[in-house]
This record gives sequence, structure tokens and C-alpha cells, in this order.
Amino acid sequence: MWYLFSANLLVLLLSVQSLCAMPSRGILPDSIPQSALLLGDYIQYPSVTGNERQAGQYLATMAMIKGLHVEVFTNHLDTFNFAASLYPLSQNKPNIILLNHIDVVPALNAAEFTYPPFSGTIADGMVWGRGAIDNKGMAVMQLLAMQRFVELAQDQELPYNVTMVSVSGEETGGHTGAKVVASRFAHKLNPIVVFGEGGTGIPSLLMNDPHKKVFTISTTFKRSLWLKLNLKMNTSGHGSVPPKRYAVQEKVRALYKITRWSRREVFSKTTRRMFRELGRLEGGMRGLVLRNLGLFRPIAVRAMRKDGVIYSLITNTITITGIQTPPGAPNIIPQTIDVTLDCRLLPDVDTQEFIEEIRKVLDNSDVKIEVLQEDKMATPSDVGECFIRMANALKRVYPQSGVIPILMPASNDNNYFRALGVPTYGILPVFMDMEYIESIHNIDERIPIDALEKGTQVYVELLKQYLE
Ligand SMILES: [Zn+2]
Repeated sequence: MWYLFSANLLVLLLSVQSLCAMPSRGILPDSIPQSALLLGDYIQYPSVTGNERQAGQYLATMAMIKGLHVEVFTNHLDTFNFAASLYPLSQNKPNIILLNHIDVVPALNAAEFTYPPFSGTIADGMVWGRGAIDNKGMAVMQLLAMQRFVELAQDQELPYNVTMVSVSGEETGGHTGAKVVASRFAHKLNPIVVFGEGGTGIPSLLMNDPHKKVFTISTTFKRSLWLKLNLKMNTSGHGSVPPKRYAVQEKVRALYKITRWSRREVFSKTTRRMFRELGRLEGGMRGLVLRNLGLFRPIAVRAMRKDGVIYSLITNTITITGIQTPPGAPNIIPQTIDVTLDCRLLPDVDTQEFIEEIRKVLDNSDVKIEVLQEDKMATPSDVGECFIRMANALKRVYPQSGVIPILMPASNDNNYFRALGVPTYGILPVFMDMEYIESIHNIDERIPIDALEKGTQVYVELLKQYLE
């Protein structure tokens, strides 16, 4: 309790400073909703990874002002991680976690933005700036949804707590954020479910019904495995008389085999379900094929090979991301060469078995394979009660929409919680045109205010099912 109190006090003290430096804007029409104003202000703290503190303090302060209990997990010059809850975490109630990240990617070509990337400009019915979608908009939706339940939580003893967890470092792997929170503070959070980023509403997904809104909720992911392949060969050192075999040439030969390696397509339990649900929505011949992959496997695989994203969901992929030899003049034959591979593995693929497969394909026993880094394996979250509650919430706000579980081609912060065995679902609960989705990590990142409002409503509908 003391810790909580002191942490709150700390935030408050720090935030007096933040509030004094709070962004001020000119006169805006009264009709602009609170969500847009809050997001516009939050964007004005440029929280590029490694600089999350000020933005985090601002958000924590706003959460406190709205009546939530704030607990700061870590507070350093370059990172900030905190939780904001309906009830103090010390009560240890079963907890519904709404996860978001404070950090944003840099705005490299700032001059090309219509409005300065950290201005948080509100114009043309949108909020503009770095982080508008990824992921500050989501934090605003979560916070404003939780605000609606503050009074209810005070009036009666609800069975659950709800906690917004805002973390640092997502864009560079979550090592300063979600990883720290999951490994050191999960016992305080007592999570029964986590809703973080991941899927979203995808326009024109169905060929037979392009206007139907379809939402994707990620229940699992492809984990990364980074490998270093080293080859050392003692050969004569001069390029004028090439030896029959030397390290660089042998490595190129081996790599060529890797690039030609046609990997087996695998329909995991999650992808099978994903295609089945998609097939159900799609209908027609295409739907029939997707619903019966066992039967139509050859046709389906042939079609899926043509689409890079879909194909990556049914295969383990390997990308050659680096080739290094020691520095030397062009006529010196290097005795050693390192190659780095970024491999992405389907759920349930064992690291050692995969490395053995690579070894066979390389067909060179001198190549040494070292694991540089790998994501933890995590059991896919089931398409059960929590998934259905989120799907219900989406359908209430977006009537007639469809919802499907998906496998994400890359991992994100969700993984740290899923690896703890906590059911974890990835969804930005808004439906937007493709041009907005494409503005993520790009110039003119922006979110329509309508999407911001609807997203907030989805979280409200989600929480109602737990709390009312
Ligand atoms: Zn993100």
C-alpha cells in the first residue's frame, strides 16, 4: 500500500511539471470529442522508443485525473511503464488487462508530413501525427472506456479489476517494456486475460462481399529465431590463385540452397480455424475451398503461394539479413564468413528440429549454427469465452460485421503475456479505410475521430460483459 501511495505521489509530483508543460492549442470547436483532444495532446509528447518518460507521465497523470489508481512499475530517464486500474492492484482481484505501448517509431521524413508529426493536429475530422494509430490512439480508447466504469466500481464491489498497462519499447522488441512488466510485475497484475494490439478491421477482405466489415483478432503469432551461420576455412590468402574451396564460395553455395529450399506448407490449428471462419464468411466456391482445406489442399496451396502474406502464414520463412567477412583488400581471401538469418517459425515448430532441417539443406558440416535470439514459445490463446466477448463487443458497435481469429506473422508485446499462459488477444478495435492503416509507421499517420470514438465504444461494450 505504501508503495502504491508513494508511486502515486511521485507521478503526481512529476506530473505537476508535465501539466505545466502541457500542450496548449488555439480555439477549437466545442464539437470536438474528448477522445480527439486527449489523443492530440498525447501525440505532442514525442515518445520515440527510448524517450517514453514524458509521454508516459502525461498519460499516467490523465489516468489519475480520471479517477484510476496508478501504479508506476519502472521510471527511468529513457523508459516508463505503468498501470492504471479501477481498483488498486493491492486488492489482487482477477484482472482484465488492456495493453498499449507508449513508444512510437521515429518520423524520419518530417518535412513530408501534411502537419508536423508531433503536432497532434486535429483537422478534417482526423487526429494527425506519429502514434495516432500505433499505438496512442488505442491507449486513449482504453482509458476513456475505463473512465465510464469508475463510478460503478466505487458504488459496488465488482468481481474484476480492469487495468490499462502502458509500456515502453514495443517497437524494438519490448525488452524495456512488456518483457519487464510480464517478468517482474505479473504477480501484481493477476491477469486473467490481456487485450493488446494485433489484428484490426480489414477492408475488402471478402471477394464475394467486399463491403462486409471483417475484424481479425490474433490468438497466436509466428516467433522469430535469429541465427548466425559461421564458416571458417584455412585457405591460401591471395585472390590471384583461387583455391578449389574457400569460405565465401562455399557459403554462397550453401545459401543458394537455402533460397531454393521449398518449405512444406503447414496448416496449424490456428490457421485452419482462421481459413475456416474466413470461408464461412466468404461463401461460394472460395468459401468451400477454405472451409475444407483437407479436401482442397492442392488448389488452396497453389493459390496461397501467390500471396506473400498468406503464404508466410503457412510456412516457416527464412530471410538472409546479413553477410559479413572481416575487413580486407579485395585480393585477400577471407578465412571466415558470418551470415545472419531472420527465421519466422509457425506455432509448435521446435527450434532444434528447425535448425536440423537447415543443417540438412546447407549440406556443409563445417557451417556452425548459433542462435542469436529467439522468441519464447507460447501456446495459442483459445477461441473461447474472452475471444467471444471481444467479438460480441465488435459486433455491437459494428453490426453485421464478421470476426475471425488469426495468426500474426510477427510477434509483439502480447507474446510476453501469452508465454505466461495468460489468454492474450491482439486487436485494434476499429474499422478504417486502407489508406489510414497504411499510414502506420509512415508519413501522415492519422486516425479518423469517428474510428477513435467507435473503438472506445468497443472497449466499453467489452467491459460491460465483465462488469455489468
Ligand atoms: Zn504498435
